[in-house]
Amino acid sequence: MNLATVSKYFSIMIIIRNKILPSKEFVSLTLWPFCFVREDRINLFSNRCKEHANIHAEQQKELLFIGFYILYIMYYIRGLYRGYAFHEAYVRNPFEMEAFEYEWSPSARIKYGWLKYDI
Ligand SMILES: [Zn+2]
Repeated sequence: MNLATVSKYFSIMIIIRNKILPSKEFVSLTLWPFCFVREDRINLFSNRCKEHANIHAEQQKELLFIGFYILYIMYYIRGLYRGYAFHEAYVRNPFEMEAFEYEWSPSARIKYGWLKYDI
């Protein structure tokens, strides 16, 4: 397996349509290489949402997955600790801020770009 093959493999995203994940407020949940999409919200899974999911996949790869999950939860808890409501703590998470900013222009995203955001 050469480097190009490995790179192609790492760009794969497996879409799993289901009735459970994510919770009702959300359209999709990215746990690379899987992207869970709710059946009842599949019509909202637009190209913009797919780019958002791809950005989370890239963030997860950059932090070797476990680092992303730990930091994501830490940022979320920090937001709550600072007095933000649940949804506000979610949108102020640096990983979400980067994904929301670049979902319209994903090619402009740079590696570890989420580091420039702070809540
Ligand atoms: Zn997101």
